[in-house]
Amino acid sequence: MKEGIHPEYKECKVTCACGNSFVTKSTKEELRLDVCSQCHPFFTGQQKFINRGGRVEKFKTKYKMD
Ligand SMILES: [Zn+2]
Repeated sequence: MKEGIHPEYKECKVTCACGNSFVTKSTKEELRLDVCSQCHPFFTGQQKFINRGGRVEKFKTKYKMD
């Protein structure tokens, strides 16, 4: 049952730490997120992370490494 070299994109259930979950396409069947578009301050418009200083930079780094 070889599926070839290229990763196959399938339905992926994404679950966020905020409790939100949605389905997307990924090579993985399941993903866990610390933030999603529902709770990310950039999307929600909440500024509290930015005001705490350093939080956003930390977050960006995390995202890139992921
Ligand atoms: Zn979330």
